[in-house]
Amino acid sequence: MSEKRPNTIEQKKNVRHLSEFTENILIVDDEQRHLNSLRELMADNGFNVELAHNGEEAINRIKTKTIGLLLLDLNMPDMSGNEVMDFIKTNKINTTVIVVSGESSFEAANSALKHGAYDYIKKPYTTEALINSVKNALKKRQLEHDNLQMQAKLLESEKLHRYLVNKSPDIVYMLDTNGRFTFVNKRIETLLGYQKEDLLGKHYTSIIHEDDHEKAKHTFNERRTGERATTNVELRFRCKNNDCAPRHFETSIIPIEISAVGIYNTKNDLPNNKFLGTYGIARDITERVEAEEIIRFQAYHDMLTRLPNRTLLKDRLNQAISHSRRNHSKLAVMFLDLDRFKVVNDTLGHLIGDQLLQSVSVRLKKCLREGDTLARIGGDEFTLLLPEIHGPKCSEMVAEKIISSLEHPFNINGHEFFVSTSIGIAHYPDDGSTMETLIKHADIAMYSVKGNGKNGYRFYADHMNEVYSNHMSLETDMRRALSQGQFKISYQPQINIETGEVFAMEALIRWDHPERGSISPYEFISLAEETGLILPIGEWVLRNACAELKRWREAGLSNIRIAINISACQLEQDHIVKTIIDILHENNIPGEMLEIEITENVIMKDIENGINKLTQLSNHGINIAIDDFGTGYSSLSYLKRLPIDTLKIDRSFVHDMQNSDEDASIIKAIIAMARGLGLNIISEGVETKEQLELLKAWRCKNMQGFLFSRPIKQNDAINFLKSSAENTAIMFEKCNTSAEL
Ligand code: C2E
Ligand code: MG
Ligand code: MG
Repeated sequence: MSEKRPNTIEQKKNVRHLSEFTENILIVDDEQRHLNSLRELMADNGFNVELAHNGEEAINRIKTKTIGLLLLDLNMPDMSGNEVMDFIKTNKINTTVIVVSGESSFEAANSALKHGAYDYIKKPYTTEALINSVKNALKKRQLEHDNLQMQAKLLESEKLHRYLVNKSPDIVYMLDTNGRFTFVNKRIETLLGYQKEDLLGKHYTSIIHEDDHEKAKHTFNERRTGERATTNVELRFRCKNNDCAPRHFETSIIPIEISAVGIYNTKNDLPNNKFLGTYGIARDITERVEAEEIIRFQAYHDMLTRLPNRTLLKDRLNQAISHSRRNHSKLAVMFLDLDRFKVVNDTLGHLIGDQLLQSVSVRLKKCLREGDTLARIGGDEFTLLLPEIHGPKCSEMVAEKIISSLEHPFNINGHEFFVSTSIGIAHYPDDGSTMETLIKHADIAMYSVKGNGKNGYRFYADHMNEVYSNHMSLETDMRRALSQGQFKISYQPQINIETGEVFAMEALIRWDHPERGSISPYEFISLAEETGLILPIGEWVLRNACAELKRWREAGLSNIRIAINISACQLEQDHIVKTIIDILHENNIPGEMLEIEITENVIMKDIENGINKLTQLSNHGINIAIDDFGTGYSSLSYLKRLPIDTLKIDRSFVHDMQNSDEDASIIKAIIAMARGLGLNIISEGVETKEQLELLKAWRCKNMQGFLFSRPIKQNDAINFLKSSAENTAIMFEKCNTSAEL
């Protein structure tokens, strides 16, 4: 700062050099003469200086201002130069002192240097000696200053790097040539729970999962650099004392992905640089691994029950078959289908259905050995793989265990459910040698159980194949049946036993199959419902039965009502009410002369919608009957909300009422309830006089059953009705020749 304009080139050079670093220079001497000549000399050489006339003045200046260089006289009256230097030393003031003194003794010079002088210039001095000394002192100071600055910068930069390394989300480490840690960043503490000190000097294997030691070898001893060095190797680290952050899958082991390079002493560029160790970065990939694991789990499991799905089953089954082939052993594949599960789902909703499926899965799992695979492969379908069994006895045992495990009811949200299952069993190698055949044969055997009363198990047998393919072709045939006029309607009378009058005829569909003959609706209605074919078929029944009623009415039989069965899916149709009303209009039939029969489950499926549509129908005078009453999930509160006219007691109760007190009580309760609610009651399936008498005694006057008449073919219905109207008295004895046999 205190510089004069430079004159010579040399001076300019100096100034340029020093301009980056300028210092205040103070000359201290008690003699004004010396001060003046020194100042001039310094000025001539481009230095601007300040002056002090004694030690005290110098000290004051030093205290208040940064003085880089002091040209100091030794002998001064108030205070010696050495004392000034002592002050500087004691107060750790960064000032360079060049003593300029008349003292020529070696002791004086020695003592001055001991007191901290940088140089000692003896008066009289040569300009060159003095200026050189000044320049050297300033240069030294400049170097020191630069050095300090460099150090500070380095410190900053080191701090920054340390910060970056320690704050890194990855573990950063260095190993020596023997694989021992020489450096680890702080991430190790949060991620694995170790302190840095725990690991420094330790071999890397101390943090690697035992099973990964072999794999870790190459990574942790990496000597390569550049592109060939290790990148993204997946390994597992072990936590200290299992105390890392809680994790989803595993608490003591952390999956990491590691990249490593060899470190070399690069002071010289020789090809065989000295290998110093390995540097690496390890990244916590827990989240990714967890996500992958979840995705993998989802790909191979059913999310509702957490059981293996079809894909995993196939995989395991294929493996089991290969194993059995090699070892000449047996295995079993079981196909399980829950009986009437659809009813639960349809009536109580999917939520309860799902909960029930979960509870069933839990029970099923309890019946299995370790190594068995239970898979859910569809709605209520399960497949069970029993590898390594001795023979059918084993699979039989498991099937029985499953069936008996389902004997106790399930309680879901306060509802009690009895669930049974039909099980088909196929064995390797007897029933098939490939996965597809075994599953198919187990499925066929299951169908056979379904067709024979359900709730049981069967081993696959070749003859079942035929029945099964019949079932499959039934669907194809049914699609043609309507257009080819294979459906017919029969009518079964409903009698008032007090008067002997036929008051209604129930329309019951028949299928005259060209090859198989007559097929019962029990066989094809549920298939028609499953495939949606019930919609055109149901409408066909409505139109034809009403057209038939029209004929009866035109023949003078205007007191006869027609009862028509309606399926759940029909009632779900938006236009069903309009369709029915239109059909009635077309045939000139008053609403009162039609009764539609629905099962309890139909209403329960979508209660609000059901109530709405039935109310509309009822408003048109149409009667509503609940068919097969007592077999579904009746709830009195719903019955009260529905516009019901009639309850039809299911024929299974009538059939068993003489042998079962329970069934008798149910009938009596239904009759009492109907009476209480002001509903009509009709008993179905009355076959014997004894049944008739009992029902009569219980005050049920309306009946339907083989005792009175089997369903009558359409062509004969009108004659039947006419003759029964003429002579109702002989009704009970009559076995009408036109009735179905
Ligand atoms: P459902 O409506 O309960 O009809 C009564 C069934 O019991 C009829 O069987 C009838 O033939 C039979 N039955 C009548 N009296 C006796 C008897 O004394 N003893 C015995 N063992 N059985 C008797 P069907 O005609 O085979 O019909 C079976 C079921 O198929 C019907 O049961 C009904 O639910 C359904 N179904 C029939 N026709 C139709 C239709 O057009 N549409 C719909 N959706 N379902 C229909
Ligand atoms: Mg019916
Ligand atoms: Mg019925």
